[in-house]
Amino acid sequence: MKVPFLDLAPAYAELRGALDGAYRRVMESGCFVLGRELEAFEAEFAELCGTKHCVGVGNGLDALHLILRAMGVGPGDEVIVPSNTFIATWLAVCYAGATPVPVEPDPRTFNLDPNLIDAAVTGRTRVIMPVHLYGQPAEMDAVMAVAERHGLMVIEDNAQAQGARYKGRRTGGLGHAAATSFYPGKNLGAFGDGGAVTTNDHQLAERVRLLRNYGSRVKYLNEERGFNSRLDELQAALLRVKLEKLDEWNERRKIAAAAYLQAMAKIPGLTLPFVPEWSDPVWHLFVVRHAQRDKLQSELASANIGTLVHYPVPPHRSGAFCAEYSAPGFLPVAERLADSVLSLPIGPHIEQEHQLHVINVIQSFSIG
Ligand SMILES: *Cc1c(COP(=O)(O)O)cnc(C)c1O
Repeated sequence: MKVPFLDLAPAYAELRGALDGAYRRVMESGCFVLGRELEAFEAEFAELCGTKHCVGVGNGLDALHLILRAMGVGPGDEVIVPSNTFIATWLAVCYAGATPVPVEPDPRTFNLDPNLIDAAVTGRTRVIMPVHLYGQPAEMDAVMAVAERHGLMVIEDNAQAQGARYKGRRTGGLGHAAATSFYPGKNLGAFGDGGAVTTNDHQLAERVRLLRNYGSRVKYLNEERGFNSRLDELQAALLRVKLEKLDEWNERRKIAAAAYLQAMAKIPGLTLPFVPEWSDPVWHLFVVRHAQRDKLQSELASANIGTLVHYPVPPHRSGAFCAEYSAPGFLPVAERLADSVLSLPIGPHIEQEHQLHVINVIQSFSIG
């Protein structure tokens, strides 16, 4: 038996008719950028997030970057980011010319520890950027309270948590603005790159609209130095089909996660993901911890089970940032997590017998 980490082909198989229809509709329309499919998708995705506005952009990194630009964040400013995130969260801050200031996570939830934010705030801090990592909402009430106390903006990195709920409210509508990514492997994945900004702030949404399209509202009239970062018509049309299935497919991920949680509750040496009572995660990833992670991963590989590590090198240890952030003993929680986390196969189309195989291999590894 071969268990892939994630197989995207069944998504097309399930939705083939509707996706092919969307493809043909766009092809026949002759309109490929900034048209009606995008407008419709923006309205539908804003509705999901419970926000007034959505602006489709080229990818998740651009979504984060353009929000920062639209907020006027730039050189000399600091942005608080998690120490254990995908590198895009940090890079977006650099693109805007500002400085990422890492704060450690609560190792149980993998999300930004709100109690550690205060100590990282300086006179230059402008924004806190929590990430809903692995599909689980960050502790947003506490983050918003710190932000309010210091007069800071909050940008959610919602790339991994489309559809998740925090105290009953959808992520993407909890901060001042949110960025998301439609990279194919995300819960709401396109068939190529894509991203979006969601917000209730009309002015901010209009600024992002300007920035994504060369700083132009009217063709060839460029009000400022913008960028080219638009979600194209084809991706928007295909995403509309997938958006209709998002809640159902997230439910399937929840069932798969519940099966893992139940079957592996008593395995010695294995730490399972922790879900606080206010959290309704969407299981973008199912991340366990194990002291012998590398050995466990190769054992699973020998049994033809695909796993990944999210992420093996924390941003501050990467070639992109280590020159400025390499002090010894710096960010020990992020480093410990990088050495012990392992992502098991999960997705809306994972097969039950595949999960059983994963569980069996982990069980015999741990019990010997
Ligand atoms: C995927 C991802 C991004 C970036 O999205 P892209 O569309 O690949 O640019 C940003 N932050 C997090 C947490 C992500 O997982």
